[in-house]
Amino acid sequence: TLERPRIASLDKALAFAASRHQLFIGGQWVEPQDGRRFATHNPATGDQLAEVAEAREADVDLAVAAARRAMESSDWAGMKPAARARLLFRLADALEANADELAALETLDNGMPLRDARHFHLAHAIETIRYNAGWATKLTGETIALSGMGDWHAYTLREPVGVVAQIVPWNAPMAMAAAKIAPALAAGCAVILKPAEETPLTALRLAHLIAEVGFPDGAFNLLTGFGESAGAALTAHPGVDKVTFTGSTEVGRLILRAAAGNFKRVTLELGGKTPVIVLPDADVPRAIEGAARAIFTNAGQVCNAGSRLFIHDQLFDEVVEGVGRIAESIKLGSGLDAETQMGPVISAQQRDRVRGYVAQGVEAGAALRAGGSSIDGDGYFVSPAVLTGTSADMAVRREEIFGPVLCAMSFADADLERIAAEANDTAYGLGAVLWTNNLSAAHRLARKLKAGTVRVNGGGLDPALPFGGFKQSGWGRENGREGIEAYTETKSVAIAI
Ligand code: NAD
Repeated sequence: TLERPRIASLDKALAFAASRHQLFIGGQWVEPQDGRRFATHNPATGDQLAEVAEAREADVDLAVAAARRAMESSDWAGMKPAARARLLFRLADALEANADELAALETLDNGMPLRDARHFHLAHAIETIRYNAGWATKLTGETIALSGMGDWHAYTLREPVGVVAQIVPWNAPMAMAAAKIAPALAAGCAVILKPAEETPLTALRLAHLIAEVGFPDGAFNLLTGFGESAGAALTAHPGVDKVTFTGSTEVGRLILRAAAGNFKRVTLELGGKTPVIVLPDADVPRAIEGAARAIFTNAGQVCNAGSRLFIHDQLFDEVVEGVGRIAESIKLGSGLDAETQMGPVISAQQRDRVRGYVAQGVEAGAALRAGGSSIDGDGYFVSPAVLTGTSADMAVRREEIFGPVLCAMSFADADLERIAAEANDTAYGLGAVLWTNNLSAAHRLARKLKAGTVRVNGGGLDPALPFGGFKQSGWGRENGREGIEAYTETKSVAIAI
C-alpha cells in the first residue's frame, strides 16, 4: 500500500541489494582477498536480502595502506578546508537526491518503518553531513600568552588525527555512518568505515555516492565484514590512529584493549538505560505520548531508549494506562507497509532475547501491563511491553534490553535528590528525559542527573548538540564542536621572539 514514487524507489533498492557488492578500497571496488561472501536477511520476512563481500585481515591491511596513502597525498592531505566542505555539501546533495532509495534500503535491511527511515534517519544523516561540512572551514587553533617563558609567540594548530577506523551498529545504520564519516572527513582524516554485518546496504550505497562526488582515492574506504574479524583487525592495526565505535558496552571494552597497542585515540558511544521522569506538574498527555515514543521508536533498538519510566505516584495510574494503551494500539508489520508503526527487531536471536527479559521479569514478580509476546509469522516481531512492579535488582531494570520493553516505577514525593539517585542507579549514563513545567526543578534535576544529554519536555537529536555518555555509556562526544575536534590533534607551536 505504498504511494507510487516509493514503489519506484523500492524497485531500485531491491535491484541494488541484489547486485554484486565488493569492498571499496583506495577509490576502487575490489573483491575480498580470499573471495569470501556472506548473506544478509530482511528481518520482516527472514528471507535473504543480499550477499556482500566479507573483509578479513588482509583486506584490512589494504584499506589501512590506502588510507595512509591518502593522508600523505596532496590530493587529500593537501586539500583546502573549503574544498573538503564542498565535497561534503555535494555528498549531502547526493544523499538527498537518492533519499527515497536509501530509505527503502534501510527499511529492507533493518526493518524500520519506511516513514522513519526517510523522514528521520535519512533527513538526520543529510543534516549531519551539512552541519559538519560547515565546520571544515571553521576549525581553528588559539594564540596563547605564555605565563613564564619570556617573550614568545605561541599558538596551537589543529591537525587531522590521521587514519580513522569507524565501526557502527545495525540499529541506525545510515544516521550512524553519517555521524561518523562527516566530522572525520571535514577534519581531513582518512576513513575506513565498517558497517554492522546485519545492515551493510546503505553504507555500500553511500560509498557509491562518495565515489561519484569525487573524494580523492583512499579518503573513504568501506569494509563490509564481521566484528570479530574485520572489526577486531581494524581496532588492533598499528596503522590506524583512531577508532570511533558505536555499539555495545561489552564490545567497547574489547576495543579499548585492542586500541592500547599503539595508543589509538578512542571515541565510544555505548549502551544506555535512559530514565524518563514525570514530575507531578507535567503536561500529562504530552508526557504519556513522549514516554511511549521514547521507548517504542525503532522497536526500542535505540541506545538512548527511555526504558525506565519514573512517575509521581499521583499520576502513576494515568500515565501507565496511557502508555499501555499506546503500546497496545501500535501497528506492527513490515516497514514497507504505510500503516506500520513498529517494524520487526533485527533478528530471531534479538526477538528471543527481548521476550526472555519480559518473561524473566514476570517470573521475578513484575506485572505485564501490555504486550511482550512475539507475533506468529516469518519476521522477527515483538509486541511493545509495559512492566510494573519491578525491583531495582531485576535484569529488566538493570540491563540494556534494546527492545520495546518499558519498566514503569512510581515515586512518592518530589524530593529531587531521591529521584535523581534512583534515576542514576545504573551503570549507564547516556540520556535522561524530564517531563515538568517547574523550571527550577528542571534545572536542578538536569544538574543532578549523571547523563550525557538531559532533555526536558521533548525528544530528538541535533548534529549541533554534543552527544555521548557518562559512566559505561561511553568515552567522548559526537556532534557539535566537540564532535569534530575529536578528529584532530592539538599541536602547540612556540616561537621565541
Ligand atoms: P555490537 O557491539 O555487537 O556491534 C556493533 C559493531 O561492532 C558492529 O559493526 C560489529 O560488527 C562490531 N564488532 C563486534 N565485535 C567487535 C570486535 N570484537 N571488535 C571490533 N568490532 C566489533 O552492538 P550491536 O548489538 O550491533 O548494537 C547494539 C548496541 O549499540 C547497543 O548496546 C546500543 O546501546 C549501542 N548503541 C549505542 C549508541 C550510542 O550512540 N551510544 C547508538 C546506537 C547503538
